[in-house]
Amino acid sequence: MCSKESKLPPHVLIFPLPAQGHMNSMLHLAQLLCLSDIHVTFVVSEFNHRRMLTATDSALERYPGFRFQPIPDGLPEDHPRVGDRMIGCFEPAIKFMGSYFDKMMGEKDLLASANTRPVTCIIADDVLSFAADFAAARGIPLIYFRTISASAFWAFFCIDRLVEANEIPFQEIGMDELVKSIPGMEGFLRCRDLPSFCRVDDTNDPTLWSLFNIARQTARAKAVIMNTFGYLEQPILSNISKHMPRIYAIGPGNAHLRSRLGDTSTPSASLWTEDRNCINWLNAQETKSVIYVSFGSIAMVTREQILEFWHGLVNSKHKFLWVMRPGSITGEDEDQIPDVELEKGTKENGYMVEWAPQEEVLNHPAVGGFLTHSGWNSTLESIVAGVPMICWPYFGDQMVNSRLVSEVWKIGLDIKDSCNRAAIENAVRELMGVRRDEFLERADHLAKMAKQAVNEGGSSYCDLNGLIEYIDSLII
Ligand code: UDP
Repeated sequence: MCSKESKLPPHVLIFPLPAQGHMNSMLHLAQLLCLSDIHVTFVVSEFNHRRMLTATDSALERYPGFRFQPIPDGLPEDHPRVGDRMIGCFEPAIKFMGSYFDKMMGEKDLLASANTRPVTCIIADDVLSFAADFAAARGIPLIYFRTISASAFWAFFCIDRLVEANEIPFQEIGMDELVKSIPGMEGFLRCRDLPSFCRVDDTNDPTLWSLFNIARQTARAKAVIMNTFGYLEQPILSNISKHMPRIYAIGPGNAHLRSRLGDTSTPSASLWTEDRNCINWLNAQETKSVIYVSFGSIAMVTREQILEFWHGLVNSKHKFLWVMRPGSITGEDEDQIPDVELEKGTKENGYMVEWAPQEEVLNHPAVGGFLTHSGWNSTLESIVAGVPMICWPYFGDQMVNSRLVSEVWKIGLDIKDSCNRAAIENAVRELMGVRRDEFLERADHLAKMAKQAVNEGGSSYCDLNGLIEYIDSLII
């Protein structure tokens, strides 16, 4: 190694799944590393890179040691890459990106340049299984990043135990039976709350075992980073740590970044253009009077479900701000936002946008509740903002998160598997009215704990410092 290179900081390559939620949390990590003078190359699909540049001012490149590395995802140019249509394409896209990446790293000498050393280590999204083989073949240290809750990860990790204990399939024992074979979750997790992929008839279901294998191969990495914090999920983190070499729980990433930046705004990495007019609308509303409604970047809803939500919201007489993402309606009337009645009722009671500046919305004084699909980023953002939730999980890990919200942290209600106007109206009235103070009190406490975790001396603060020291130690 030349003496110039020996003075250069570590160079970390971060590789997320090309999806909004995964990119957001891994970009927070990227920025946290940049603030410690680590060089970061962030792999992004060419498609998402173009979208990000259109939707945002790309302030991310303000970090001198940061750069994007766009690569093709192998999907046809005109593929919409949204919602259900993207879920089905993740597998071929991951495969294509994996082989492209392998070739690129060889040709580009591990991305070394005059001012940047070759990649010191890779931090890959845990769902990118090829990273473990790549790292082993090249002798590059690999750290996996889990973008889901520790609890949901642990549930995936224990799928074999669930099958051995005949808790999958659960038709016979029933959806509302408590699960017994996941250590640390015996007291609250029902079959209904297991990741949606566990809802199978046949224990040989290939998706079930593929997700189990993904969870298990995490242990092949030198370390695992989790976007959570000790106070939130300590018993589960302790269980996971028996199987992993090193765990760094550094979350919530958004709060951590804000704390280290001194509370200035964080650059947006949105793939959609944020409609900021909703902030003006919120400014005109009373304190904690509005329920924010958003189902994230992947979930799809039918026209019927939209109408049930809409009637429930309007009948509750509470104001709402609703994100209706383009392309998020399935069924025959795809993309037809329902009719005039809905338009009129919305004008009187609420406001609709195609994409919101979500963190800013959740931290707005007018927002008192969040009707959410329980994506892990949305859940953490709501926790940090101290906003109670009504959870309507769509799929995957969201089933677990919503149960944590209602039964473990008790900062909201879980209405999974139901979507009717009366239930929605009742839930909104309960969250925003009858039980508002009790939910707000607990949400406020959890928000304080989240901030404590990321402030100097807190558990996530110390884990991030530990991670940075570990990355430094990887320079040879
Ligand atoms: N988001 C946003 N504006 C919106 C809706 C969502 O900025 O109108 C962001 C939200 O803040 C979160 C991410 O999109 O960071 C969604 O991630 P999550 O894990 O909650 O759900 P997913 O989209 O992966 O299902």
